[in-house]
Formats: sequence, structure tokens, C-alpha cells
Amino acid sequence: MRRAYVEIDSERCKGCGLCINVCPQKILRFSEKFNTKGYHPAEQYDPDEKCNGCGFCYMMCPDTCITVFRFVQAVR
Ligand code: SF4
Ligand code: SF4
Repeated sequence: MRRAYVEIDSERCKGCGLCINVCPQKILRFSEKFNTKGYHPAEQYDPDEKCNGCGFCYMMCPDTCITVFRFVQAVR
């Protein structure tokens, strides 16, 4: 079940790769596309739904390009 995902502002991303290196699940990568500044922005590729919402990528990004979304499970 999907627990979390991230959105990356590809236009503001400068492709430094810090988030890619820090992700413990190894589910971030450089996009093959360029943004308008000429950088390959980071993107999430998570087909196995490994993102746990740890937020390391968010904390590492020097330009606050990353937003982390966590799904909250209802308590019955
Ligand atoms: S929230 Fe954690 S697991 Fe998810 S992409 Fe960021 S660093 Fe990786
Ligand atoms: S840390 Fe931020 S600026 Fe660097 S590649 Fe990741 S999203 Fe882009």
C-alpha cells in the first residue's frame, strides 16, 4: 500500500542530486528531461511504492523544491 510520495518542483530544481543521494529507498533519480534552466531535475520513480515519507530528501534540498505527502491511516 502506498504510504507516501514526494512532489519536486522541477522548474526550481538545479539538479544537484543531494536528494537522490540521501534517499534511503533509492527511489529518486534525474529526469531525462531538461527544465527551462537547462538542468536535469530530480524525479521520483517508485513503482514498488517504497517511499515511506521519511522526509530526508526534503531536509536535504537546499532550495526547498520537495514536498512530502504522507497518507494517514484511519484508526478503527
Ligand atoms: S521521503 Fe524518504 S523515502 Fe521518500 S523519496 Fe524522500 S528520502 Fe526517499
Ligand atoms: S536536492 Fe533539491 S535542487 Fe538538488 S536535485 Fe534534489 S530537488 Fe533538485
